[in-house]
Amino acid sequence: MTELNKTGSYDVNYCAHCGSDEIERKDIDGRRRAVCLSCGRVYYRNPIPSVVGISIINKELLLVKRGVEPDIGSWCLPGGFVEMGETTEEAVKRELFEETGVKVKPVDIITIDTTIGGFYGDVVVIAYEVELESKDFVPGDDALDVKYFPYDILPRLTFHSHRLIIDTAFEKMDANK
Ligand SMILES: [Zn+2]
Repeated sequence: MTELNKTGSYDVNYCAHCGSDEIERKDIDGRRRAVCLSCGRVYYRNPIPSVVGISIINKELLLVKRGVEPDIGSWCLPGGFVEMGETTEEAVKRELFEETGVKVKPVDIITIDTTIGGFYGDVVVIAYEVELESKDFVPGDDALDVKYFPYDILPRLTFHSHRLIIDTAFEKMDANK
């Protein structure tokens, strides 16, 4: 039975490499890790890399209304997890297109935030400043709405980490003026 542990990671109960179910926990490099007794593979756990796109036009910020859990109906920065085989820049372009319908170009990194033990476990969020290359907004399948908000009247946000990223983005924008 595979269950989420405290940090949101999945526990290892069989070896994905050789198929053995002889898994033992050992202290390796200062942490408790799952080890396959049959083939010796050590199961390291790592945070998941993700991206968000920051589009600020006339001091207003682009947000997406969530149509999926967690917290359906709240708002968040457009973005998502990096897929295998793509760069983080490709991921932010893809996610923004999927969620908002617009094509974007990542132009700068605003900040990098690490969330420990959140809804998705440990996640590293790379926040890109993006420029729009098209303007026809169409909410994606997972989104209920797409809209720009002034900084001082932002709606309820899904993730605390996004609040911190947004604050940093607006501070940087002011600093650049
Ligand atoms: Zn194995």
